[in-house]
Amino acid sequence: MDVIQVELPDGSVKEVPAGSTPLEVARTIGERLAREAVAARLDGQMVDLTRPIEKSSRLELISLASPEGLDVYRHSAAHLMAHAVKSLFGDDVQVTIGPAIENGFYYDFFSEKHTFSPEEFDTIENKMAELAAADLPIVREEVSRDSAIRLFREMGESYKVQLIEDLPNEMVSLYRQGDFVDLCRGPHLTTTGRLKAFKLTSVAGAYWRGNEKNAMLQRIYATAFPEKKALKSYLAKLEEARKRDHRKLGRELDLFSFSEEAGAGLVIWHPKGALLRTLLEDFERREHLKRGYDIVMGPQILRTDLWKTSGHYENYRENMYFTEVDEQSYGIKPMNCLAHMLIYKSRMRSYRDLPLRFFELGTVHRHEKSGVLHGLLRVRGFTQDDAHILCAPEQLDGEIKGVLAFVQDVMGIFGFEYEMEISTRPEKSIGSDEDWERATDALMSALKDSGLPFEINEGDGAFYGPKIDIKLKDALDRKWQCATIQCDFTLPERFDLTYVGSDGEKHRPVMVHRVILGAIERFIGVLIEHYAGNFPLWISPVQATVLNVTDSQAEYAEEAYRALRSEGIRVAKDLRNEKLGFKIREAQMEKVPYMLVVGDKERDSGTVTPRHRSGKNLEPMTLTEFVRFVQDECRQYH
Ligand SMILES: [Zn+2]
Ligand SMILES: [Zn+2]
Repeated sequence: MDVIQVELPDGSVKEVPAGSTPLEVARTIGERLAREAVAARLDGQMVDLTRPIEKSSRLELISLASPEGLDVYRHSAAHLMAHAVKSLFGDDVQVTIGPAIENGFYYDFFSEKHTFSPEEFDTIENKMAELAAADLPIVREEVSRDSAIRLFREMGESYKVQLIEDLPNEMVSLYRQGDFVDLCRGPHLTTTGRLKAFKLTSVAGAYWRGNEKNAMLQRIYATAFPEKKALKSYLAKLEEARKRDHRKLGRELDLFSFSEEAGAGLVIWHPKGALLRTLLEDFERREHLKRGYDIVMGPQILRTDLWKTSGHYENYRENMYFTEVDEQSYGIKPMNCLAHMLIYKSRMRSYRDLPLRFFELGTVHRHEKSGVLHGLLRVRGFTQDDAHILCAPEQLDGEIKGVLAFVQDVMGIFGFEYEMEISTRPEKSIGSDEDWERATDALMSALKDSGLPFEINEGDGAFYGPKIDIKLKDALDRKWQCATIQCDFTLPERFDLTYVGSDGEKHRPVMVHRVILGAIERFIGVLIEHYAGNFPLWISPVQATVLNVTDSQAEYAEEAYRALRSEGIRVAKDLRNEKLGFKIREAQMEKVPYMLVVGDKERDSGTVTPRHRSGKNLEPMTLTEFVRFVQDECRQYH
C-alpha cells in the first residue's frame, strides 16, 4: 500500500496510507479533534472529512468552532431543511439554492401551489429533527454534467437544471442524504445526526437570481447552532430586537409613519417624532457652534448645469430626482455640498479665513430601489447633519482630528461604542492618483494619531475621495453606519476654489465632507432600538405627564400642567376619569420618563409625586423643585 505524507498547519508531517480520509487523519491526532472537525482544507481546497487523500498534501482540519466550520454546519442545515420540505410537500415545491449567511442560512423554494407560512415552521422543524435523528450519511457523488441535468429534469427540478446548465464544468458534484439529493459544491457534515439545534425564523419573497424580471421564490430564513444553549440565547436576542424594532415602536409611540399616498421611503413625522427630531437638531446646532462651525442653508433644488460642473450628473444621476420649470432643468439635491461651494466662492478668501466650517441640517433626496427601503434606516428623503470644511492642505490633519474628537464626544453622550474603517479608491471615481494618495494619507495619519483601532476597506471610497466610516454598536451589539469623514480634492478643483496664501499667491483649498450622526432619520431609527423607546430625559418628546387620582384634583392638576409647560418642561396630562393604575399603565406604555401623580395630599401642599417609568417613586416635590430636577438631569447635554 502506498504511503503518503500529510503536512499539518503546525508544520508536522503524518505518514498515512494513500486514500486515507481527513477524518481518519484527525483520529490519529486525537478523538476530540476528530469530533470537533466538520470539514477539511486539502491543499487550500475545502473538502468533506470523508474525501480520500490520494497524494501527499497539506491538510487543515476545519473545526465547528471556526466561522468557516459554522458555515459548513449551517449549509448542511439548509440541506436538511430542503430535505424536510421536499418530504412534506413533494412535487408541489422545487428547490433552488440555500447558502449559509450571517447568523444562519436560508433556502429559496419555488412553488405555485404552496405558500409557506410561519404556522408551518413547527411541522418543518419536526421533520428536520426526525431526519437528523435518523443520522443519515451525507454522501458526495461526482457525475457528468449531462447525467446531472437528466437526473434533475426527471425529478422536475427545473431551477437545478438551469444552475447546472450554467456551470462550465464537465463534472458536477451532488450530495445525497436518504432520498434527498442536491446539486452542491460542498463540503458538508458527514451525517445529518450532527445537526443538533436549528430554528426557522421567517419567510419572505426573493426573486430567482435576485432579478425582478424572474420568478418570485419563497425564502425561508432559519438558523442553526452547534448547541441548543447557543440557539436559545440567539433567539432571545432576536426576540429582543423584534420588540425594539423601530417601525413597531415608531407606531406604538406615535412618532412617525409612511404613506403610500405620499410615496415610499418618505418619512412623515408626527408631533412627538417631530419634537424628538427638533431636540436632536437643536443639540446639533449648539454642538457645532461650540466647535467653530458656521450654520448655513442652501436651496432644495439647484440648476442641473451646476450638478454637471460638480460631477454628480455624470456619476450620481441615477440616484437623483429632477424637475423642470420654465424650460430650466433643476436637480433636487442628493447632497448639500454645492451651495456650500458657492458660499465659499461668494468672496475672495485669504489664508487667514481658513479653516471655514459650513454646517447645514440639509435635507436631501436620493432614489433608492424600493426593495432596499427599510423603515427609517433606509429612506429616500432625509436630513443630514452635514458640514464641509475648507482648509489649507497643511490644516487637513488637524481638522480631521477635530472631527474624530467630535464623533467621540457625541457617541459618548448616546452611550454608543463604535468602530472605524477607512475606505480607499473605488473603480468608478474621479480625480488624479496623486490627489487620492494625498487624501488617503491624511485620513490614515489622523486615525493613527488618534490611537483608535481601525480597519481598511479597499475600494469602498466615494467616487470623489477616500473616507472614514464610523460604525456604532448599539445595545444589542449590532453595527450601524452613521458618521463619515470624506476627503475631497476634486470639487475645489471643479469649482475653481482658491485662497490667497501668505505668499500672496493663489492656492487651492482642501475640502472635507463630514456627518456626525449621518441621516437624522436613520440615527433616530437606531436610537429607538438602542434605547428600546426609553429615551433619556433630555430628548424625550414628553418628559412628564400629570395624572390625577380623582376628579377632585383635576383643577390643581391642570394648573400644575400649565405651570410646568410654561417653565419649558415637555409635559402632558391625563385627567380622564379613569383608575390611577390604568393611567399609569398607559403612560408606562408610552415610555414617559416621569409620571406626576396628584392626589389630595399633593393638591393641598402644592406638590407632585414623581414616579419614574422604571417603577421607582420619588419623594413629593414642589413644581419649582421638579423643574430644577429635570433641568439638572438634562444640563449635561447643553
Ligand atoms: Zn449545498
Ligand atoms: Zn458634501
